[in-house]
Amino acid sequence: MIEKRLNDLRAQIHRAERLYGRHENAVSLLAVSKTKPAEAIAAAYQAGQRHFGENYVQEAISKQQLLGAFDMTWHFIGPIQSNKTKLIARHFAWVHSVDSVKIAHRLSGQRPQNLPPLNICLQVNISDESSKSGIALDELPDIYRQITALPNIRVRGVMAIPAPADDFAEQRLPYKALMQAVAALGQPRLDTFSFGMSGDLEAAIAEGATIVRIGTALFGTRGQSIA
Ligand SMILES: *Cc1c(COP(=O)(O)O)cnc(C)c1O
Repeated sequence: MIEKRLNDLRAQIHRAERLYGRHENAVSLLAVSKTKPAEAIAAAYQAGQRHFGENYVQEAISKQQLLGAFDMTWHFIGPIQSNKTKLIARHFAWVHSVDSVKIAHRLSGQRPQNLPPLNICLQVNISDESSKSGIALDELPDIYRQITALPNIRVRGVMAIPAPADDFAEQRLPYKALMQAVAALGQPRLDTFSFGMSGDLEAAIAEGATIVRIGTALFGTRGQSIA
């Protein structure tokens, strides 16, 4: 079941890459495994998936311990509390949800020296009122400048979770606005656009996503397991 869904998702991503003039393999799939058991993650791994996203620190670390024999790359994508930064800095290769200088500063200071720099994305709030987390668009240049100066972390790009919209054209708008804001930073080394979930991945790919974060369409509705 997971293998079939993974193959269907890969085909859908490749179709969207072709349709919207993106390079082949420009978009990678992050399998969002929050609330799902280690067995489901192992099944996705057996089907070739390597990058996994988790929202809850303790849950993620338990699964990482169970799956320690596999060569997986772990991304933290959930809201970050200050008292969790030390564990996040030790147990993940990527963090998509950095939304303040304070959190970035803690991650930088707590990243173990024997590990490569932590890859981070700045989470930007592009849906006006609906979401509390994320950097406001007009604060992005200043916060980017402060965070990019920190050691032990590498700012790779931005992440966004727009308010849900059914209409394709409407789904594209917030991503387009964020792409423009990032272009205005004038930082060509920003190479990561963590845009798109199960419900809007095509719109995200149309606007330049390089990572789509997919949970439901791969592992099934949370609360029921398909594994
Ligand atoms: C849960 C989650 C996802 C995956 O959402 P689906 O709709 O299940 O694909 C993606 N990104 C973040 C930040 C999430 O918390």
